[in-house]
Amino acid sequence: MSVSTDVVIAGGGPNGLMLACELSLAGVRPIVLERLSEPSPEPKANGLLGQVVRMVDHRGLYERLSDAPGPPRPNSAYFTFAAMGLNLSLLEDSPLYGLAVPQQRIVQILEERATELGVDIRRGHQVIGLTQDDDAVTVDVAGTDGDYRVRARYLAGADGAHSLTRKLSGIGFPGVSYDRTTTRTAHASVPAGWVDAGTGALNVPGHGALRPFLSHRTEHGGVSYAPFPGHPPLISTTEWDQPESGEPMSLDELRASLGRVLGADLPVGPPQGAGPHVLRRLTGGNTRVAERFRDRRVFLVGDAAHVYASGGGPGLNLGLQDAANLGWKLAARIRGTAPAGLLGSYETERRQAAGRMVMNAQAQSALIAPGGDVTALRDLFIELLGHRDTVQHLADLLAGADVRYDMGIPEAHPLVGRFAPDVELDTSTGTVRLAELGRTARPLLLDLTEGASVAEALPDGTDRVDVVTARPHPSAHAFTALLLRPDCHVAWASDSSNPDAAELDGLRAAARRWFGSPVPAGNPVV
Ligand SMILES: Cc1cc2nc3c(=O)[nH]c(=O)nc-3n(C[C@H](O)[C@H](O)[C@H](O)COP(=O)(O)OP(=O)(O)OC[C@H]3O[C@@H](n4cnc5c(N)ncnc54)[C@H](O)[C@@H]3O)c2cc1C
Repeated sequence: MSVSTDVVIAGGGPNGLMLACELSLAGVRPIVLERLSEPSPEPKANGLLGQVVRMVDHRGLYERLSDAPGPPRPNSAYFTFAAMGLNLSLLEDSPLYGLAVPQQRIVQILEERATELGVDIRRGHQVIGLTQDDDAVTVDVAGTDGDYRVRARYLAGADGAHSLTRKLSGIGFPGVSYDRTTTRTAHASVPAGWVDAGTGALNVPGHGALRPFLSHRTEHGGVSYAPFPGHPPLISTTEWDQPESGEPMSLDELRASLGRVLGADLPVGPPQGAGPHVLRRLTGGNTRVAERFRDRRVFLVGDAAHVYASGGGPGLNLGLQDAANLGWKLAARIRGTAPAGLLGSYETERRQAAGRMVMNAQAQSALIAPGGDVTALRDLFIELLGHRDTVQHLADLLAGADVRYDMGIPEAHPLVGRFAPDVELDTSTGTVRLAELGRTARPLLLDLTEGASVAEALPDGTDRVDVVTARPHPSAHAFTALLLRPDCHVAWASDSSNPDAAELDGLRAAARRWFGSPVPAGNPVV
């Protein structure tokens, strides 16, 4: 049996499903091949951190994922970098948005959304081979009713860190392995009287307070205590140069590790409530980035393209934004509307984002290692963290908010290349947040000028760009007009109430650069 389609996605994990949603919003219905018959119950991410929270808000997924009303709010209190405190209250705008939701739930919600959007999700179907020719990729599949082939114009490998797509495409995965670390993690009960009802901290006699959801370092290792609502606390230690163990992981082993790291006894007990409960020991970790994110008609997304041995959630922050970056570009190529270089910009832009997270992961690994020289370096860091600019810099790095794409505009407005600002607008139909205008994932020109003079400057026939005219609410914004790409990045901006001819030329150039030449009349775009 053989099937033909535009796009096949190998892997129905969070990033493959997100890409499927993005393609569908742009009018291309992919086939998702997922080898598991249902979402993996293996506990992985406990949530999303950073700019990705704003991205899922733009797609209307924030409320579904958080199961709570209202827009996301950033953490403007306290966070850690390599187990050193970041006083976020120093910042005017904290970029550290967070969303606590287990990965299995993220996958379920993205799968529901993809199904609503008409995606063909084939569970129990495993990719076992692929070849490429000039016209298509041929994917060999072991399906629930036997083997078959899919011929697709493009294949996206979202098949995780051990990606077969990456291997069969001959793409290397260089990076660093951390062989010296052992991380032990378990859901466990702790003595109730040790939990501070006000702060939620766990006060360990002989050691002191462990603030919840933050990492802590001692001379002997790292520890974290995460009391997620509705679950028993998740407790984790990291140690260096541990002897190998052939024994199954146990709570006694975690307690012994806590004793070594904290220098005090923390009597953890069996977790209460329904499982599944985590009880695991991981040795080592990897920080790696694929040599290339593309091989002709094959693209890599998410963990298939990059992995990080670091806490703080770079995995899904990057992977879901890879999907948002690739989806609209690939769809434009399939519809025949992509300008030259559009698909190539996927790797350029996302490699830059991955590179920042490599630095983040490696720097944090170095700064939490044991040893007196590391302690001295940390003391210096802690002095630097008294400066607002340093806190902003590290918070932006953790959130991925420091990524600024090159939009090809010299001396561009400061918002150009960045993720869309978080603002409210008064439109003819009422007050909306800019994020709410991103639900359709279409290119958007937002015109706040008197008389909507900017919208008139779009090239004739640019019917791929939605135009919204509005008034700033409740006070003036740092812009009067914005051109937004579907991945929520600003392609062009002005802060002039009456942009001059040169600025409007810039707008036209940006519209052509990202959304192609005007569509001839009578040739509607899907
Ligand atoms: C213990 C742990 C804790 C983590 N904590 C966090 C965190 O707090 N925050 C965070 O952001 N990230 C965290 N991560 C990382 C995060 O889990 C990954 O970044 C994320 O799973 C990557 O998603 P993905 O869709 O790219 O790959 P995966 O989730 O690995 O999904 C790949 C999918 O492809 C399928 N597949 C593989 N091969 C094939 C094939 N040949 N054919 C068909 N299907 C195939 C797999 O079954 C799987 O469903 C954690 C990871 C681990 C291991």
